[in-house]
Amino acid sequence: MKILISNDDGYQAPGIVALYEALKDVAEVEVVAPEHNNSAKSNALTLHSPLYVHRAANGFRYVNGTPADCVHIALTGLLGYRPDLVVSGINNGANMGDDTIYSGTVGAAMEGYLFGIPAIAFSQTEKGWKHLDAAAARARELVEQMISHRTGDAQPWLLNVNIPCLPQAQLKSVKVCRLGRRHAAEPVITQTSPRGETMYWIGAAGPAMDESEGTDFHATAQGHVSVTPLKVDLSDHERLGYWAQSMAQRTGKGPS
Ligand code: MN
Repeated sequence: MKILISNDDGYQAPGIVALYEALKDVAEVEVVAPEHNNSAKSNALTLHSPLYVHRAANGFRYVNGTPADCVHIALTGLLGYRPDLVVSGINNGANMGDDTIYSGTVGAAMEGYLFGIPAIAFSQTEKGWKHLDAAAARARELVEQMISHRTGDAQPWLLNVNIPCLPQAQLKSVKVCRLGRRHAAEPVITQTSPRGETMYWIGAAGPAMDESEGTDFHATAQGHVSVTPLKVDLSDHERLGYWAQSMAQRTGKGPS
């Protein structure tokens, strides 16, 4: 069993160190992660500048690129073998609802999934690494369960996991949920630079809009570990028929 670990907070982040420590006895584990914080880089790949890979004293490899770059490079030449599982995290903060679109933590896992490898993205629901030991223990449990029930996984899968920042004794069971939704982000923040130019800072993510029962927001607020299976197909299957008809009307052509 071989596991590739990455993240988006950078190879020195406490979350990836804790994840590595938790998984190193479970399987053969290698870390390839961004040199610097790459939160909110989603699936971005670096196409117009070279990437360099260095090895840190603890054996982790780090890349001057994005989370998806790290997994992409690892899978297409750097490792020289195909891992059985790609695990990303543990992220410093929630990746629930719409966060999953922007998340570099999810992006790293998704890159593995796109290469046909099962993948899991782990996040703590609050920033600050509180109770990281409990989160890492939960991550290990989940990975062990996934490894021991591997039969029948003909298709790769992608799981998004959010763990409440609680001590181990207070962490509740896993709940399989759909993604909730967030309100639009907070307004952009402007400041004036020392040279008199206006600087813009992207505002904070919006609060939960749909946190009803069955969502990741709801489960984690109750102290449960949320697990959401993700897919990548962005097609609006339900509206294919509507658009086919609408296009035919607009262009004056009937269905051919
Ligand atoms: Mn992050």
